[in-house]
Amino acid sequence: MATNIADGTVLNNGVKMPWLGLGVWKVKDGSEVSLSVRTAIEAGYRSIDTAAVYGNEAGVGEGIRQAGIDRDQLFITTKVWNADQGYESTLKAFDESMKRLGLDTLDLYLIHWPVKGKYVETWRAMEKLYRDGYVRAIGVSNFHIHHLEDLRQNSEVTPVVNQVEFHPLLTQKELLGYCKEHRIQMEAWSPLMQGNLDHPLLVELAQKYGKTPAQIVIRWDLEKQVVTIPKSITPARIRQNAEVFDFTLSAEDVEKIDALNENRRFGPDPDNFNF
Ligand code: NDP
Repeated sequence: MATNIADGTVLNNGVKMPWLGLGVWKVKDGSEVSLSVRTAIEAGYRSIDTAAVYGNEAGVGEGIRQAGIDRDQLFITTKVWNADQGYESTLKAFDESMKRLGLDTLDLYLIHWPVKGKYVETWRAMEKLYRDGYVRAIGVSNFHIHHLEDLRQNSEVTPVVNQVEFHPLLTQKELLGYCKEHRIQMEAWSPLMQGNLDHPLLVELAQKYGKTPAQIVIRWDLEKQVVTIPKSITPARIRQNAEVFDFTLSAEDVEKIDALNENRRFGPDPDNFNF
């Protein structure tokens, strides 16, 4: 169980990934994102989650350099966007992301969404980047079980991670079980339900543990062994979201949060997206 911000999960290829990272979707490129990244690193975060489509990779790279920490202490994730899927186009998109980030190697490269008819080819390019040593680990995002099964039957390298929408209203029980069985680490996007944290149970548990609802939800991710990447541009919240390693939730309270599930998505269903 994670007791320190430096704690991480060991992925199926032996690479260590921090349990907690900073998400930067919708964070503006330039000083907004570089300041968020720097603040997070100063607060002890070692993992940053961006994507080509967020349009802020350059600012993420700038924040990393400003923080002045050794590159090998950090775990940086970016993702190939849907329009770039395919073999050659993925290799090219990767180069462009790396130039914007200003990095030589990446820690984790993800397929952002399972674009029909494209993602197996995209995965072949990811396997090449991995084998050639440009990226330490490769994974997927927004994959349902049937996408993962398709990939399993048509590829060689097992994804290390599946980054999906996951929070108290969408607990993804079946997918979580599948991922555990196949040693694919689940990672939660929109872990804080995009800021909708006023559920009475979360407020009650926050009072009980002397924490905030956000901290209760982040700790619940850790108890469920799901990597989590809450986003904030507010320095006090960035720090607050990292103060989750000094308490644990009882098994009973974890179950109470599990029971909030409504299979409710704030984002699109990966079987039905149009971008
Ligand atoms: P989150 O669930 O992390 O919620 C972010 C919102 O919560 C912001 O409005 C933020 O406000 C607010 N917030 C943060 N901390 C607190 C706190 N302690 N108390 C109260 N409110 C708080 O949303 P995201 O959708 O950004 O998801 C997180 C990350 O997941 C993304 O940034 C991205 O990296 C990744 N992601 C990946 C997707 C994919 O398809 N693979 C899709 C969506 C997200 P403020 O910033 O103003 O402080």
